[in-house]
Amino acid sequence: MFVENSLRRALKRMRLFPDTPLMVAVSGGKDSLVVWDLLRRLGYSTRGLHINLGIGEFSRYSSEAVANFAEARDLSWSEYPLKESFGFTMPEIQRAFREKICSLCGKLKRHFFNKHATDEGFGVLVTGHNLDDEASRLLGNLIGNRQRFVRKQYPLLRSPHPAMPAKAKPLFRLEDEEIGIYATLAGIDVLQTVCPFAADATSHAHKRALDLLEAEMPGQKRKFYFSYMRENGRRENLEDTSGFGRCEYCGAASREPVCGVCKLYARVEEWYRKRELPLNQ
Ligand code: AMP
Ligand code: ZN
Repeated sequence: MFVENSLRRALKRMRLFPDTPLMVAVSGGKDSLVVWDLLRRLGYSTRGLHINLGIGEFSRYSSEAVANFAEARDLSWSEYPLKESFGFTMPEIQRAFREKICSLCGKLKRHFFNKHATDEGFGVLVTGHNLDDEASRLLGNLIGNRQRFVRKQYPLLRSPHPAMPAKAKPLFRLEDEEIGIYATLAGIDVLQTVCPFAADATSHAHKRALDLLEAEMPGQKRKFYFSYMRENGRRENLEDTSGFGRCEYCGAASREPVCGVCKLYARVEEWYRKRELPLNQ
Protein backbone atom coordinates (compact mmCIF):
# COMPACT_ATOMS: atom_id res chain seq x y z
CA MET A 1 0.00 0.00 0.00
CA PHE A 2 1.18 3.50 -0.92
CA VAL A 3 1.26 4.99 2.58
CA GLU A 4 3.02 1.97 4.05
CA ASN A 5 5.60 1.93 1.25
CA SER A 6 6.28 5.61 1.68
CA LEU A 7 6.99 5.11 5.38
CA ARG A 8 9.10 2.04 4.75
CA ARG A 9 11.20 3.96 2.23
CA ALA A 10 11.59 6.96 4.53
CA LEU A 11 12.74 4.74 7.41
CA LYS A 12 15.19 2.91 5.20
CA ARG A 13 16.75 6.15 4.00
CA MET A 14 16.97 7.31 7.61
CA ARG A 15 18.65 4.01 8.46
CA LEU A 16 16.08 3.31 11.14
CA PHE A 17 15.54 -0.43 11.17
CA PRO A 18 13.23 -2.53 13.36
CA ASP A 19 16.07 -3.23 15.79
CA THR A 20 16.04 0.44 16.88
CA PRO A 21 13.52 1.07 19.67
CA LEU A 22 11.46 4.15 18.87
CA MET A 23 9.59 6.50 21.15
CA VAL A 24 6.59 7.89 19.28
CA ALA A 25 5.19 11.26 20.35
CA VAL A 26 1.42 10.80 20.14
CA SER A 27 -1.06 13.64 20.41
CA GLY A 28 -4.20 11.58 19.69
CA GLY A 29 -4.52 13.23 16.26
CA LYS A 30 -4.49 11.27 13.00
CA ASP A 31 -0.84 11.77 12.02
CA SER A 32 0.81 10.45 15.15
CA LEU A 33 -1.65 7.54 15.51
CA VAL A 34 -1.09 6.60 11.86
CA VAL A 35 2.70 6.64 12.19
CA TRP A 36 2.44 4.54 15.35
CA ASP A 37 0.12 2.07 13.61
CA LEU A 38 2.43 1.75 10.61
CA LEU A 39 5.52 1.24 12.75
CA ARG A 40 3.72 -1.52 14.62
CA ARG A 41 2.73 -3.20 11.34
CA LEU A 42 6.31 -2.99 10.11
CA GLY A 43 7.54 -4.77 13.23
CA TYR A 44 9.22 -1.90 15.07
CA SER A 45 9.42 -1.90 18.84
CA THR A 46 7.75 1.30 19.98
CA ARG A 47 6.51 3.10 23.05
CA GLY A 48 4.06 6.00 22.90
CA LEU A 49 4.71 9.31 24.65
CA HIS A 50 1.77 11.56 25.37
CA ILE A 51 2.02 14.94 27.05
CA ASN A 52 -1.19 15.97 28.76
CA LEU A 53 -1.29 19.74 28.37
CA GLY A 54 -4.20 20.21 30.80
CA ILE A 55 -6.41 21.99 28.22
CA GLY A 56 -9.80 20.91 29.62
CA GLU A 57 -11.91 18.68 27.40
CA PHE A 58 -9.41 18.86 24.52
CA SER A 59 -6.70 17.21 26.61
CA ARG A 60 -9.12 14.70 28.12
CA TYR A 61 -10.24 13.58 24.66
CA SER A 62 -6.64 13.53 23.40
CA SER A 63 -5.54 11.30 26.25
CA GLU A 64 -8.53 9.01 25.70
CA ALA A 65 -7.80 8.71 21.97
CA VAL A 66 -4.23 7.62 22.75
CA ALA A 67 -5.32 5.17 25.47
CA ASN A 68 -8.06 3.60 23.32
CA PHE A 69 -5.73 3.22 20.35
CA ALA A 70 -2.91 1.69 22.41
CA GLU A 71 -5.09 -0.68 24.42
CA ALA A 72 -6.82 -2.03 21.32
CA ARG A 73 -3.42 -2.85 19.78
CA ASP A 74 -1.61 -3.92 22.91
CA LEU A 75 0.92 -1.08 22.64
CA SER A 76 2.65 0.52 25.61
CA TRP A 77 2.82 4.25 26.29
CA SER A 78 3.61 6.83 28.95
CA GLU A 79 1.51 9.86 29.72
CA TYR A 80 3.12 12.86 31.40
CA PRO A 81 0.93 15.72 32.62
CA LEU A 82 2.56 19.11 31.95
CA LYS A 83 1.29 20.25 35.34
CA GLU A 84 3.55 17.67 37.00
CA SER A 85 6.63 18.07 34.85
CA PHE A 86 6.50 21.86 34.40
CA GLY A 87 4.30 23.12 37.24
CA PHE A 88 1.63 24.81 35.09
CA THR A 89 -0.98 23.67 32.59
CA MET A 90 -1.28 25.45 29.21
CA PRO A 91 -4.38 27.43 30.31
CA GLU A 92 -2.45 28.62 33.38
CA ILE A 93 0.43 29.71 31.15
CA GLN A 94 -2.00 31.34 28.74
CA ARG A 95 -3.29 33.68 31.47
CA ALA A 96 0.19 35.18 31.65
CA PHE A 97 1.26 35.02 27.97
CA ARG A 98 -1.88 35.31 25.94
CA GLU A 99 -0.52 36.05 22.49
CA LYS A 100 2.44 33.67 22.26
CA ILE A 101 0.68 30.59 23.47
CA CYS A 102 1.19 28.30 20.44
CA SER A 103 4.92 28.92 20.23
CA LEU A 104 5.30 28.42 24.00
CA CYS A 105 3.38 25.16 23.76
CA GLY A 106 5.73 24.01 20.96
CA LYS A 107 8.77 24.95 23.02
CA LEU A 108 7.47 23.04 26.07
CA LYS A 109 6.58 19.98 24.01
CA ARG A 110 10.03 19.86 22.40
CA HIS A 111 11.72 20.23 25.79
CA PHE A 112 9.67 17.49 27.44
CA PHE A 113 9.91 15.17 24.42
CA ASN A 114 13.69 15.35 24.89
CA LYS A 115 13.52 14.83 28.62
CA HIS A 116 11.02 11.98 28.76
CA ALA A 117 12.51 10.12 25.78
CA THR A 118 16.06 10.25 27.15
CA ASP A 119 14.91 9.50 30.74
CA GLU A 120 13.17 6.41 29.36
CA GLY A 121 16.35 5.41 27.50
CA PHE A 122 15.24 6.08 23.89
CA GLY A 123 17.72 7.43 21.37
CA VAL A 124 15.14 8.28 18.70
CA LEU A 125 11.88 10.19 18.92
CA VAL A 126 9.34 9.93 16.08
CA THR A 127 6.70 12.57 15.44
CA GLY A 128 3.73 12.61 13.06
CA HIS A 129 4.66 15.76 11.09
CA ASN A 130 3.50 15.39 7.48
CA LEU A 131 4.17 17.15 4.18
CA ASP A 132 1.54 19.83 4.83
CA ASP A 133 3.09 20.61 8.25
CA GLU A 134 6.60 20.76 6.84
CA ALA A 135 5.74 22.76 3.72
CA SER A 136 3.73 25.33 5.68
CA ARG A 137 6.47 25.64 8.26
CA LEU A 138 9.01 26.13 5.50
CA LEU A 139 6.85 28.87 4.01
CA GLY A 140 6.62 30.62 7.40
CA ASN A 141 10.37 30.31 7.96
CA LEU A 142 11.18 31.69 4.51
CA ILE A 143 8.80 34.60 4.91
CA GLY A 144 10.50 35.40 8.21
CA ASN A 145 13.95 34.61 6.73
CA ARG A 146 14.70 32.24 9.61
CA GLN A 147 17.46 30.23 7.91
CA ARG A 148 18.62 28.47 11.05
CA PHE A 149 15.13 27.02 11.54
CA VAL A 150 14.98 25.96 7.90
CA ARG A 151 18.09 23.86 8.42
CA LYS A 152 16.41 22.16 11.37
CA GLN A 153 13.50 21.09 9.18
CA TYR A 154 15.30 18.09 7.74
CA PRO A 155 13.16 14.98 8.39
CA LEU A 156 15.93 13.31 10.37
CA LEU A 157 17.97 15.21 12.92
CA ARG A 158 20.75 13.32 14.59
CA SER A 159 21.23 13.71 18.32
CA PRO A 160 23.51 16.67 19.02
CA HIS A 161 23.71 15.98 22.79
CA PRO A 162 23.12 13.03 25.15
CA ALA A 163 20.05 14.79 26.59
CA MET A 164 18.46 15.09 23.11
CA PRO A 165 17.30 12.07 21.11
CA ALA A 166 17.49 12.00 17.32
CA LYS A 167 14.22 13.26 15.77
CA ALA A 168 12.53 11.50 12.89
CA LYS A 169 9.50 12.60 10.86
CA PRO A 170 8.91 9.60 8.60
CA LEU A 171 5.53 10.90 7.29
CA PHE A 172 7.20 13.91 5.66
CA ARG A 173 6.39 12.70 2.14
CA LEU A 174 2.69 12.20 2.81
CA GLU A 175 -0.10 14.73 2.62
CA ASP A 176 -2.83 15.34 5.19
CA GLU A 177 -5.40 13.82 2.90
CA GLU A 178 -3.45 10.63 2.23
CA ILE A 179 -2.91 10.08 5.95
CA GLY A 180 -6.60 10.76 6.65
CA ILE A 181 -7.62 8.11 4.11
CA TYR A 182 -5.23 5.59 5.66
CA ALA A 183 -6.62 6.33 9.15
CA THR A 184 -10.17 5.66 7.95
CA LEU A 185 -9.23 2.45 6.14
CA ALA A 186 -7.23 1.19 9.12
CA GLY A 187 -10.17 1.89 11.47
CA ILE A 188 -8.24 4.34 13.62
CA ASP A 189 -10.41 6.49 15.89
CA VAL A 190 -8.72 9.85 15.80
CA LEU A 191 -9.33 12.86 17.96
CA GLN A 192 -11.89 15.12 16.29
CA THR A 193 -11.57 18.12 18.61
CA VAL A 194 -9.08 20.88 17.79
CA CYS A 195 -7.09 22.74 20.37
CA PRO A 196 -9.10 25.81 21.48
CA PHE A 197 -5.91 27.91 21.62
CA ALA A 198 -4.83 27.12 18.06
CA ALA A 199 -8.00 28.38 16.35
CA ASP A 200 -6.26 31.14 14.44
CA ALA A 201 -2.64 30.02 14.52
CA THR A 202 -0.54 31.58 11.75
CA SER A 203 0.52 28.10 10.62
CA HIS A 204 -3.10 27.56 9.53
CA ALA A 205 -2.88 30.58 7.23
CA HIS A 206 0.33 29.24 5.68
CA LYS A 207 -1.39 25.89 5.13
CA ARG A 208 -4.35 27.58 3.47
CA ALA A 209 -2.02 29.57 1.22
CA LEU A 210 -0.34 26.38 0.01
CA ASP A 211 -3.70 24.64 -0.45
CA LEU A 212 -4.81 27.50 -2.66
CA LEU A 213 -1.69 27.19 -4.78
CA GLU A 214 -2.09 23.42 -4.93
CA ALA A 215 -5.72 23.73 -6.08
CA GLU A 216 -4.68 25.94 -9.00
CA MET A 217 -1.43 24.16 -9.81
CA PRO A 218 -1.40 20.58 -8.55
CA GLY A 219 2.01 19.40 -7.32
CA GLN A 220 3.26 22.82 -6.22
CA LYS A 221 3.26 22.03 -2.50
CA ARG A 222 5.43 18.97 -2.94
CA LYS A 223 7.69 20.78 -5.40
CA PHE A 224 8.10 23.77 -3.08
CA TYR A 225 9.15 21.65 -0.09
CA PHE A 226 11.32 19.07 -1.86
CA SER A 227 13.13 21.35 -4.25
CA TYR A 228 13.96 23.79 -1.48
CA MET A 229 15.10 21.16 1.01
CA ARG A 230 17.19 19.38 -1.60
CA GLU A 231 19.21 22.52 -2.20
CA ASN A 232 19.26 24.04 1.25
CA GLY A 233 18.54 21.53 3.94
CA ARG A 234 21.41 19.13 3.47
CA ARG A 235 22.18 16.77 6.27
CA GLU A 236 25.72 17.99 6.76
CA ASN A 237 24.51 21.50 7.50
CA LEU A 238 22.28 20.39 10.23
CA GLU A 239 23.99 19.53 13.38
CA ASP A 240 25.56 22.38 15.17
CA THR A 241 26.64 20.44 18.22
CA SER A 242 28.91 23.16 19.49
CA GLY A 243 28.34 25.16 22.62
CA PHE A 244 25.96 22.82 24.36
CA GLY A 245 26.13 22.51 28.11
CA ARG A 246 23.46 21.57 30.59
CA CYS A 247 20.87 23.74 32.29
CA GLU A 248 21.84 24.40 35.90
CA TYR A 249 18.32 23.74 37.10
CA CYS A 250 16.93 20.86 35.08
CA GLY A 251 19.95 19.34 33.29
CA ALA A 252 18.50 19.83 29.79
CA ALA A 253 20.88 20.46 26.89
CA SER A 254 21.27 24.21 26.74
CA ARG A 255 23.62 26.77 25.24
CA GLU A 256 23.00 29.07 28.19
CA PRO A 257 23.43 28.36 31.91
CA VAL A 258 19.64 28.32 32.36
CA CYS A 259 17.46 26.75 29.65
CA GLY A 260 14.52 28.50 27.98
CA VAL A 261 11.95 26.36 29.78
CA CYS A 262 13.36 27.08 33.25
CA LYS A 263 13.38 30.79 32.33
CA LEU A 264 9.78 30.51 31.22
CA TYR A 265 8.86 28.83 34.49
CA ALA A 266 10.39 31.71 36.45
CA ARG A 267 8.39 34.24 34.41
CA VAL A 268 5.07 32.45 34.83
CA GLU A 269 5.70 31.95 38.53
CA GLU A 270 6.52 35.66 38.92
CA TRP A 271 3.34 36.63 37.07
CA TYR A 272 1.23 34.65 39.54
CA ARG A 273 3.23 35.76 42.58
CA LYS A 274 2.89 39.48 41.71
CA ARG A 275 -0.85 39.12 41.47
CA GLU A 276 -0.97 37.01 44.59
CA LEU A 277 -2.80 34.31 42.67
CA PRO A 278 -2.55 30.76 43.95
CA LEU A 279 -0.09 28.62 41.99
CA ASN A 280 -1.78 25.29 42.48
CA GLN A 281 -5.32 25.43 41.24
P1 AMP B 1 1.44 19.59 16.14
O1 AMP B 1 2.56 20.48 16.54
O2 AMP B 1 0.28 19.63 17.09
O3 AMP B 1 1.08 19.66 14.71
O4 AMP B 1 2.03 18.13 16.35
C1 AMP B 1 3.11 17.63 15.63
C2 AMP B 1 3.53 16.31 16.20
O5 AMP B 1 3.96 16.48 17.55
C3 AMP B 1 2.40 15.27 16.29
O6 AMP B 1 2.28 14.55 15.09
C4 AMP B 1 2.87 14.40 17.42
O7 AMP B 1 3.85 13.48 16.98
C5 AMP B 1 3.54 15.40 18.36
N1 AMP B 1 2.63 15.90 19.42
C6 AMP B 1 1.85 17.01 19.38
N2 AMP B 1 1.20 17.18 20.54
C7 AMP B 1 1.58 16.16 21.37
C8 AMP B 1 1.28 15.79 22.72
N3 AMP B 1 0.42 16.50 23.47
N4 AMP B 1 1.87 14.69 23.23
C9 AMP B 1 2.74 13.97 22.49
N5 AMP B 1 3.06 14.28 21.21
C10 AMP B 1 2.50 15.36 20.66
ZN1 ZN C 1 16.23 23.97 32.53
